[in-house]
Amino acid sequence: MKEFDIIARYFKERSHVRRDVQLGIGDDCAVVNVPQNQSLAVTTDTLVGGVHFPNDTPPRAIAHKAVAVNLSDLAAMGAEPAWISLSLSMPDVDEHWLDEFSLGLQELTEYYSVQLIGGDTVKGPLSITLTAQGFVPKDQALTRAKAKPGDWLYVTGTLGDAGLGLDMLQGRMDVPPKHRNFVANRLNYPTPRVLVGTVLRRIASSCIDVSDGLIADVQHILNASHCGAVLQVDKLPLSEAMRDSVLAEQGIRYALTAGDDYELLFTVSEEQKGNLDLAMATASVSVTCIGQLNGVQGKLELRDGKERYAFEGKGYQHFS
Ligand code: ADP
Ligand code: MG
Repeated sequence: MKEFDIIARYFKERSHVRRDVQLGIGDDCAVVNVPQNQSLAVTTDTLVGGVHFPNDTPPRAIAHKAVAVNLSDLAAMGAEPAWISLSLSMPDVDEHWLDEFSLGLQELTEYYSVQLIGGDTVKGPLSITLTAQGFVPKDQALTRAKAKPGDWLYVTGTLGDAGLGLDMLQGRMDVPPKHRNFVANRLNYPTPRVLVGTVLRRIASSCIDVSDGLIADVQHILNASHCGAVLQVDKLPLSEAMRDSVLAEQGIRYALTAGDDYELLFTVSEEQKGNLDLAMATASVSVTCIGQLNGVQGKLELRDGKERYAFEGKGYQHFS
C-alpha cells in the first residue's frame, strides 16, 4: 500500500468532521476557523517506540495515548480541544497495526469531537508526533505562573497508577488479579481531564498536568510562580488498586515520582475554594487538597501529618 492510500483509507475516511474545518486532509494545508474572542492553544507531543511505550504496546493504546497526552496539555491550559494533526513514522506498512491504530484514533476523536485535519506519513523508526489545537476565551488560559502564597494545592483523580501499571506489565511488581485491568488501563488509556480543565478557568490560579511525576510538576508551578509549598504525603489520593498492591510508603513513592497519570494539578485561592467545591459536586472525577503554597521561593517541603517527610527521588527527565 502506498502513502496516499494509507492516508485515504486509515486517516481521511475515519476522521470525525467539525463545522469549523473549511478544508481537512487532502490539500497542502488544512484551513480552519477560530471563533471570535477565543485564543488558540497549541501543543505537540512525540511518542517514540521503546522510549515512551514498549514496542509491543497494542496500537489502539498507542493512538489513545498520543491523543490523550495532547488533550491533557490543552486541559491544563483550560482549553477546549478542536483539531489534531498526526505525523506518523513507521518501519513498514502493517495493515493490521494501521487498522487498530486508526480505530483507536477514531474512538478518541469522536468522543471529544476533535477532527484530524492533517499530518505526514513517513518510513522510519516507530514514532508518533501529534499536535493538538484548542480554544480558550481570550485572557483566560490557565498557566503555571499565577499561583500565590496561601493558595491551596489540588490534584484530580488518583496518583501513581500508571507507574504501577508499567512495573506490573514489565514484571517488576505484583498486582492482585482484580486490579490488573485497572492499572494497565491507567497506563495505556489515560483520561485527559478536559471538562475539569475548562471548569477551572475561572477558579484556579495555576494549573499543570501530571506527566513527569508529582514532585517534578509541583516544582514547575513553584518555579514559574516564584512560590514554595508544603505537600502533605498523608493526603495523596491513592487508588484502591494501589493500596491493595503495595505498602503505604511505596504508594507514596509512586504518587510522588511516577509520571504518566495525566491528572490535573492546580492551585486555588482561599476565596475560590467554595466555588471549586460547587463546581466539582457534579463532576465525575474527585479532587483532593494535598498542600498549600507559601512564600519560600522554589522550595517544596514534604510532610506526613505535622512531621517532615524525608524523601529522595525526582520525576522522569530525558537526557538525565
Ligand atoms: P504534502 O506533500 O503536501 O506535505 P502529503 O502527501 O504529506 O502532502 O499529505 C497529503 C495530505 O494528507 C495532507 O493534507 C496531509 O495533511 C495529510 N496527511 C498525511 N499524512 C497524514 C496522517 N498520518 N494523518 C492525517 N493526515 C495526513
Ligand atoms: Mg507531507
